[in-house]
Amino acid sequence: MQIDAAFVHGKVVTMDLRGTVAEAVAVAHGRVLAVGRTDDVLDLAGRQTRIVDLRGRLLLPGFTDCHTHFHSYSLQESGQVLDLRGARSLDEALSMIAHRAEKLSPGEWLQGGRWDKNQWPDDRATSPKRLRRGGDFPTKEALDTVVPQNPAFLKSKDGHSAWVNSAALDIAGITAETATPPGGAILRDSTTGEPTGVLQESASGLVRRHIPEPTLPRIREAIRDGMRAANALGVTGIHNIEGPDVFEAFQLLESDSELTLRVVSYVPRASLDDAVALGLRSGFGGAWHRLGGVKLMLDGALGSQTAAMLEPFEGTDNAGLLEMSEDELYELACKASENGLNIAVHAIGDRANHILVNVLERLAQNEIGVGARHRVEHAQHFAAEDVQRFGRLGLIASMQPVHLCDDIAIAERRLGGRSAGMFLFRSLLRAGARLCFGSDAPVESIDPLAGLHAAVARQRRDGTPPEGWHPEERLGMMEALHAYTAGAAHAGGNETIAGSIEPGKLADFAVLSHDVTALPADELRQARVEMTVVDGETVYDAAA
Ligand SMILES: [Zn+2]
Repeated sequence: MQIDAAFVHGKVVTMDLRGTVAEAVAVAHGRVLAVGRTDDVLDLAGRQTRIVDLRGRLLLPGFTDCHTHFHSYSLQESGQVLDLRGARSLDEALSMIAHRAEKLSPGEWLQGGRWDKNQWPDDRATSPKRLRRGGDFPTKEALDTVVPQNPAFLKSKDGHSAWVNSAALDIAGITAETATPPGGAILRDSTTGEPTGVLQESASGLVRRHIPEPTLPRIREAIRDGMRAANALGVTGIHNIEGPDVFEAFQLLESDSELTLRVVSYVPRASLDDAVALGLRSGFGGAWHRLGGVKLMLDGALGSQTAAMLEPFEGTDNAGLLEMSEDELYELACKASENGLNIAVHAIGDRANHILVNVLERLAQNEIGVGARHRVEHAQHFAAEDVQRFGRLGLIASMQPVHLCDDIAIAERRLGGRSAGMFLFRSLLRAGARLCFGSDAPVESIDPLAGLHAAVARQRRDGTPPEGWHPEERLGMMEALHAYTAGAAHAGGNETIAGSIEPGKLADFAVLSHDVTALPADELRQARVEMTVVDGETVYDAAA
């Protein structure tokens, strides 16, 4: 038989179990046919075969980002919603907002956000009306000055707080009398009880449900742009966490042969009963799009100080928010497990992770869902004894190393000495946990090379701190690559077809400018993705 493509004269790090490194790969019908020496692969080539000379460069399995909100990422990537990540002060944010607000039509919602109050200097003393509660959160009054008419709903960088203006509060009918929903917080004036303009966790839904939903064609259009951007960074697969509309959009993109990413979809808790009623099980679907399971939220996030902690954040009596009790989580976990659905549970604070380990331990003891690929999203902060329990259960920690860059300062300030319990890559691995990595895009850049750098150097992009943050938790490059490839495939349940370069597996590759497996950590930032191949087809080529 004739092969469709031959990738030759490279360094092929296959990520298979034996750690095979080869020179060349033969591809036929979107799958790997052979891996080996250049001469042997060229022997399989015919006149129609596309020969790609790698010129010594590194060829890896394509990266899978194990935690994305891809439609949101796509909207942000294409500039369709406001992006405040660059704002270094409240004033800077407000002028960016004002600029965008000018372009709104009457009644149109101002959306987007990703503002990060942790990056803003504390100017409470000079303007008490603009920042509230710990001198941190911005107010509706500040937002009203630049968006007086249109409703505005602006998410924080971590997505766990929403900054809204008076028009949005009016539409949602939120006043001093509004009850706080369970698992949420409405920040209020301590004397009048008036909402100050920040809604956290479940409370943001009070406003969000009044924002018109985008249409399916608009979602598809955005995702097309997003896929191009992700492919250009070597991403060939995602584990995506979004609602039924995006789940449907990926199905339509697949049926029109437009997907250039492998998608494993995790649907929200609100869809659990529907999935059970329909008999949908994890793994349903095919090589392009499959159901991963159900995403559950257990706590908030560090940047909003809503992560559930065993002890309060430093200098406060706030120990964060739990979205549900241990028993409620156990009930949901049983229901999902008994119906063949994996759960992906968001847990950031040490209290959330403690509760989650309790629940998964109980499931194991009661032999419910044996062999399920339940996973913990973020798994950011642990009490020491829970790391061992986590590992003994062989649980999957779905982590985003790149979060570390911004979290160093937040953790030092909010957790003090407890920050040593953050991002325990090495300890979790040593205890027996399985790692898979992602970005949480659009919270952070979807670029896997940024994540790899954070995992192996434990530094910000600028190389600080020079010795690495809690350097004993650094990973080796092969361990970090594993979490983006083979570990990702295991977590998504598609390890028989993805995650490594082996005969019979999908021909999804990334070609890098530098051999990152041999590069010192401080030179890693020079590396670029130069080519991305999905299903044997080149979907990105820097030289083209
Ligand atoms: Zn997320």
